[in-house]
Amino acid sequence: MSYELTAQQLEWQSVARDFAGRKLTPAKHWLEGEEFWNNAKMLSEQGFLGVTLPEEYGGMNLDLFSAILMIEELCRVCPTSGRMVYHTGPGIANFINHLGTPEQKRQYLPKIVAGQYYVALGMSEPDAGSAATDIQTTAVEDGDNYRLNGSKIFVSEGHIADAFVVYARFGHTGKPSDIGAILVERGMPGFSVGVAEENMSGEFQTALYFDDAIVPKANVLVKEHAFKALMGVYNGVRLGYAAQTLGITQAAFDRTCQYVKERKQFGKEICDFQGVQWMIADMYLQLEAARTLLYKAAADALDSKADKTSVSIAKVYVAEAAKKITDDCLQLHGGYGFSKEYPLEWYYRCVRAASIAGGTIQVHKTMLASSVLGKKFDQRK
Ligand SMILES: Cc1cc2nc3c(=O)[nH]c(=O)nc-3n(C[C@H](O)[C@H](O)[C@H](O)COP(=O)(O)OP(=O)(O)OC[C@H]3O[C@@H](n4cnc5c(N)ncnc54)[C@H](O)[C@@H]3O)c2cc1C
Repeated sequence: MSYELTAQQLEWQSVARDFAGRKLTPAKHWLEGEEFWNNAKMLSEQGFLGVTLPEEYGGMNLDLFSAILMIEELCRVCPTSGRMVYHTGPGIANFINHLGTPEQKRQYLPKIVAGQYYVALGMSEPDAGSAATDIQTTAVEDGDNYRLNGSKIFVSEGHIADAFVVYARFGHTGKPSDIGAILVERGMPGFSVGVAEENMSGEFQTALYFDDAIVPKANVLVKEHAFKALMGVYNGVRLGYAAQTLGITQAAFDRTCQYVKERKQFGKEICDFQGVQWMIADMYLQLEAARTLLYKAAADALDSKADKTSVSIAKVYVAEAAKKITDDCLQLHGGYGFSKEYPLEWYYRCVRAASIAGGTIQVHKTMLASSVLGKKFDQRK
C-alpha cells in the first residue's frame, strides 16, 4: 500500500523535532539513574509518554505512525528519549493496553504515562532466543496465584524497571499455544533481577530469575493460545526499535554532512572530492529507502488487511542500512570518527543491536522467504 503523512502526523513530527531541538541535550550515551527519571518527568510533562495510549489513562490516543515519527525525531538528538516514547506507547506498555484487563490498565498505565513507572520485557531465555517458542519458564496455578520457575536474559533496562511483561508457559502440551504472559513486579516473592550488564552500546541489560515466584492471578495478561497476539504486539516494539535506529543513523549522517563541509585536506573541503560525494549520495539513498520502508510498515500496521511482512522488511532494511551508513559516517571522520571525542563510534555501536534485538535479521529473512515462496519452513530441519 502507499502512504501519505496526514496533517496530524506532520504536526506531531514537527512538535517532536522542535522539542528535541530546544529541550534535549545531544546525547553521547544512554541516560541512566537520576538523569533517566528527570528526563522521563520532562517527557511526561510534554505529553510524550504513552502517546498511543487511550486518553482515559493519560495518553493521547495517537496512531502508531505518529509515534514512529516522533521517536525518529527524538532519537536524532537523544535516543533515550525516543526510546521512552516507544516503550511507554506502542512498545512494552502496549502489552498491557492491548491485552490487559481494565483493572490492570487502571493500575499500571497512568503511572507509566506519568514517567514514574517503567515496564520491561522478559521474553528471551538463555536457551531460547530466536526459537522464542522454546521458552521454558513455567507458570503453574496455585490458589489465587501462579508459581513461576525459570529465567530470562538480555532484558533491556531491567535494572531500572519496576515491572516486567514475562512470557511463560501456562499450558503443558509442549506447543507454542502453551505460551502466555504475566506481569511480574519487582519485589514479588521468589523473583529477583540480576546485576546490570553493560552491552556494546553502553545500555544495561539484566537477567531475571523466578524461583517459585508467587505472582497473583490478577497479573495474568494472557494465558494459553495467545502467542500470535503477543507477537502482534511485539511488532510495535520492532517498529519502535527501527525508528530509534533510523533516528540515530540520521544523526550520524547530519553530523557527517556538516563535517565534510568543514574538514579540509589537500587545500580544499573534503566534500569537494568525488569519492566523498558518492559516499554521501549512497548514504542518502539508503536513508531514504529505509525511511520509506519503515513508514510503509507503520502505515500497514494501521491497516488490519495489510500484509504484515512489511514489519520484517523494514526491520531488516533499517538494520542493515544503519550498519553501513554509520560505518561510512565514521570513515568520513577519519581518526576523529574512531576517537571517543566524537559520537560517531557510539552511533556505530548503538545501531549494531538492530540486527539482533527484536529477532535477528536471519530469522526475519527466513520469514520473508517463507512468505515470498509460499512455503512454511520448518526451522528444525
Ligand atoms: C540490544 C538488545 C536488546 C535486547 N532486549 C531484549 C529485551 O528487552 N527482552 C528480551 O526478552 N530479549 C531482548 N533481547 C534478546 C533478543 O531478542 C535475542 O538476542 C534475539 O532474539 C536472538 O536470540 P539469541 O541472542 O539467543 O541468538 P540465537 O537465537 O542463539 O542466534 C544465534 C545466531 O544464529 C542465527 N540463527 C538462529 N536461528 C536461526 C535460523 N532458524 N535460521 C538462520 N539463522 C539462525 C541467528 O540469526 C544468530 O546469528 C535483546 C537483545 C539485544 C542485542
